[in-house]
Amino acid sequence: MPRMKAVIARALGGPEVLQVTEVECPEPGPDDVLVRIHAAGICYHDVLSRAGKIPGTPGRILGHEIAGEIAACGANVAPARLGERVVIYQRLFCGTCRYCLGGRQDLCRNSRVLGEQGGGGYAELACVPARNAIRVPDGLDLTAAALAVCPVGTSVRAALGVAGTAPGQTVLITGAGGGLGLHQIQVAKSVQARVIAVTGSADKAATVREAGADEVIVAPDLKFSSEVWRLTGKQGADVVLENVVTGTFGESLRSCAQLATVVVLGNIGGRPVEIDPGLVIMRRIRIAGSGNATFNDVHMALHLLVTRAVKPYIGGVLPFPRAAEGHALMEQRAVTGRIVLQGW
Ligand SMILES: [Zn+2]
Ligand SMILES: [Zn+2]
Repeated sequence: MPRMKAVIARALGGPEVLQVTEVECPEPGPDDVLVRIHAAGICYHDVLSRAGKIPGTPGRILGHEIAGEIAACGANVAPARLGERVVIYQRLFCGTCRYCLGGRQDLCRNSRVLGEQGGGGYAELACVPARNAIRVPDGLDLTAAALAVCPVGTSVRAALGVAGTAPGQTVLITGAGGGLGLHQIQVAKSVQARVIAVTGSADKAATVREAGADEVIVAPDLKFSSEVWRLTGKQGADVVLENVVTGTFGESLRSCAQLATVVVLGNIGGRPVEIDPGLVIMRRIRIAGSGNATFNDVHMALHLLVTRAVKPYIGGVLPFPRAAEGHALMEQRAVTGRIVLQGW
C-alpha cells in the first residue's frame, strides 16, 4: 500500500500535538478524485478543532483550504480531469437534501467540513468527491487559489450573498485589519460600495487603507458610531459586517442606516451580547448570520482573484512540517493574512 506524508493532530491540545507522520494513501472510490496538494491554508477553524473547542477526534489530518492538481480519477470521473488545477469545496455534503438541491450545500445537515471528516489539507494527497473539486481559472496560482474557499469565499457570502451589497451603499466593517476584514473590504469595493473600516489598533490602519477602505476609523476604545454618523452625513451604514461583535455590537447598531443589514460573523467573546430592540425596530434593522461559502460563492471568489479585484492576503508561507508554528502564529494573532502551508 503506498504511503504519503501528512501532519496529524495526534491529540487534542496545543500546537505541539501536530506531528509529521506517514499514513496510507487514500484510495479514490468510483466518484472521487485524488488531489495532489500544492497549498493548504491554516484557518482559525483548524486551530479550534485541534484544541478540542469544536468537535473532533485525535489522529485526524486537519485543513480544509486546499488547492492542488488532480492526480487520479475514480472510474466514474471523466479521465480528462486528470491534471486539472482545482480548489476543493470545503464541505462534504449529501447532495439530496432540500438545502443541497437548493444550492445551499453549506447548510446540509449531513455534512462536515473536510478535516473533520475525510482527509484534510495538511498532507500530500486528499481524496474527495469529484464534485467537490472546482477548476481554478488559468492565470491564478494555486497558492492564491487556496484562499478562495475560506477567507475570500466567506467574504463573498457575507458581503454579496447575505447583505446583497449594491453599488453606492456604505459598508461598515469591524475588525477590518483581520484576515476576513481585509478580504471583505476588497469584495465590497468590487461592487463599487463605499467602505468604512474600523480597527482597534493604529498600526493596522495603513494596511486597511491599502486594502481599499475609503475611510479608516481607529477605535481602540471600540467607540465608532459618532464618527460613522459624521462620515455619512448622519445617514449611517447600509451594511455592517461584524467580525468582532463582543464589545462592538451596540455601536454597530447605532451606526446603521434605516433598513440596514448587520451581518454577524464574529464570536470573539463567545457569549451573548445585548441589543436595543427599540433601535432595531425604529431603523428596521435586519440582523443576519453568515457562514461558509456556497459553491457559487467559491466561483465568484475565484473570479475576483483571477481578475485581481481581490488581492489575497498571505501573511506567510511555511512548509507543511512547520504547521505547528503556523498554528502558534494564528493563536498569537501575530500575522496579517493567511498562513499557507506549501512544500515538504
Ligand atoms: Zn477556513
Ligand atoms: Zn444535503
